[in-house]
Amino acid sequence: MKFKAYPYERPDMVNIQKKIVGIIEKIKKASNSEEVLESMAEINRIRKTFETMAALASIRYTQNTNDVFYENEKEAIDEMAPDFESLVNQYFRSIIASPYLDRIEEYYGKHFLALINVKLKAFDDSIIDELKEEGKLMQAYTKLRTSAKIFFEGEVRNLPQMGPFYESQDKNIRRAAHLATSKFFNDNLNAFDELYDKMVKVRHRMAQKMGFENYIPLGYLRLMRTDYNAEDVARYRSQVKQELIPLTSMLREKQRQRLGLSKLAFADEGITFLSGNAKPIGTADEILAKGLEMYHALSAETATFIDFLYDRELLDVEAREGKAGGGYCSFIHDHKSPFIFSNFNGTSGDVDVLTHEAGHAFQIFQSRDYELPDFVWPTLEACEIHSMSMEFMTWPYMEKFFGDKADKYRYHHLTEALLFIPYGTLVDEFQHEIYANPDLTPAERRAKWRSLERVYLPHRDYEDDSFLESGGYWFRQGHIFTDPFYYIDYTLAQVCAFQFHMANQKHHESAWERYLKLCQLGGSQSFLSLVKSSELDNPFEEGTIKKIVAPLAEWLKAQNDQAFNS
Ligand code: ZN
Repeated sequence: MKFKAYPYERPDMVNIQKKIVGIIEKIKKASNSEEVLESMAEINRIRKTFETMAALASIRYTQNTNDVFYENEKEAIDEMAPDFESLVNQYFRSIIASPYLDRIEEYYGKHFLALINVKLKAFDDSIIDELKEEGKLMQAYTKLRTSAKIFFEGEVRNLPQMGPFYESQDKNIRRAAHLATSKFFNDNLNAFDELYDKMVKVRHRMAQKMGFENYIPLGYLRLMRTDYNAEDVARYRSQVKQELIPLTSMLREKQRQRLGLSKLAFADEGITFLSGNAKPIGTADEILAKGLEMYHALSAETATFIDFLYDRELLDVEAREGKAGGGYCSFIHDHKSPFIFSNFNGTSGDVDVLTHEAGHAFQIFQSRDYELPDFVWPTLEACEIHSMSMEFMTWPYMEKFFGDKADKYRYHHLTEALLFIPYGTLVDEFQHEIYANPDLTPAERRAKWRSLERVYLPHRDYEDDSFLESGGYWFRQGHIFTDPFYYIDYTLAQVCAFQFHMANQKHHESAWERYLKLCQLGGSQSFLSLVKSSELDNPFEEGTIKKIVAPLAEWLKAQNDQAFNS
C-alpha cells in the first residue's frame, strides 16, 4: 500500500476511553502476571493506532496547510491528545501499582519502568487546560510563520524559499535577503512576542501547578531525560565555551580570509567559498534516484530500507505553496512506516535530507518491531545521533551528488557541524534564562539573546540590520517556540556523531556494526546507556569535547581550503 492510501479515521475518544478504562480494571484485578502482560499488549495496540492517526493528520496537514479537512483533524487530535495522555498515565499508574511489577520489569526491561516514572512526573490532570492552550499557541505559531509572503527578486516567497538567497554569490542579494526576512519578523513583531510570552507563561503555570519552581525541571521531564540534569548541561556548556569557541572563531577567521573580506558580516556567513557552496547536480527526482543508488551500495540493511521507503512513497521533499516549512521524519506505527518531509531548495541541504532525515528513518525502520510504542524512538538527543552519523557514514558517496565538488561539500559539512555547536549551546542557555525568569519583557528577552550571542558567536556582525542587532535572530529558530530545551540535543548528538565519523574513517566495518546496533536498540535504553552500548564517550564528561575537537581541527588544517575557491 502507498502512503496516500493509508486510511485515516478520527479517533473516537469515547470508545477509546471505555476500552482503556476497562483494560486498567483488568490489570487491577488480574490474578496472574500473564493477564497483565496481555492487557498491556492490548493497550500498546490502542496507543499505536491513536498515534498512527495523529501522525497521518499532522503529516497531511503539513503537506498542505490550506487543506481544511486535515487542519480540522489535526486540531481535533491536538485537542484530544491531553485527554489521551491522561488515560495513558492512568494506565501507567496501574502498572506501577501492580503486584506483578517484577515480571513486567523482567519482560519489558528496567528502562520501560524508568520511562513510566518520568512520564508520570511530567504530567498531571491539573495541567490539562494548560496543555491544550499550549497546543493552540503552537498551532497559531506555525500558521503565523507559514503565512510569510516575502516579495523578493520578483516573486512571493515563504521562509524556506528564502534559504538559497542567503548563500548567493552576490553580497548585495545576501544582504537584501536577510533584510527582507527581518522585515517579515519585524512587521509581525507584536504577534510573535505575544505568542511567545503566552507560551512561556503557560509553561511556567504548568510547572508551578505541579510544584516545580519554574519550567526548567518540568521541561527536562517532558523530554524524558532520565539520566542527566540541568547541572550536567551547564557543565557541558562550559566545555563548549572553553574548547570549541576558539576553534569556531578560527574557522570564521579562515572563512573571512578565504572570501577576501576586510570583515566577515553576518550576511557573509552563509557563503563558505568565493566560488560558491557546492550545489547538488540534477533535479529533485535525479537526487532521489542517486539516494537510492547510495543506500543500495552502503549496506544490505540500508538497501531494504530505501526500497521500502520509495515503493510506498514515504517521502515528500519538494517545496510548494502552502506546504509547511522545515523538515522532519515521522513514524506511522500501524504501517511500520517512516515518513520523510522536507522542502528541497536547490542547496546542499537537499542532500542532507537524504542523509540526515533518512538516518532517522533508517533507525526507526530498524526498531519498527518493538511491541512497546515507547521503545520505537529513543529520547531526542539519541535520535539525532542516528541522523547526524548517517550524514558522515554517507561521506564516501558524495561524488554522486556533487561531482568534483564533493571535497568542497565535505569541508563545508564538517565546518558547519562544528560551527553549529556554539550556536546550539547559545539557544540552550537562552532558554534556561527565559524560563528561570518568565517575567522578562520581550525587549529584555531580545537584549538577553544579543548578549549571549556576544559570548557564543563573538565574531557576529549584523551591520545595519537593526532587527537582528536588537536581538531578534531567535525568531527564526522555531524550536525556541515549540520545543523548549530540545535544541541542546542536536549538539550532544553532534559530539557523538563526530565519534562515529572518526571511527568510520579508521575502519568502516566495525563503525557500521556499532552504528547499526545503536539503531536497532531504538528507545530501549536511556541516552547515556545507548552512548555506552555503542562505545562512545559521554559528552558530559570533562575532556570529551577536547578529545573530539583535536583530530577534527587537524583534518581541517590539512585541507587546502584556499583551493576550494577554484
Ligand atoms: Zn534530526
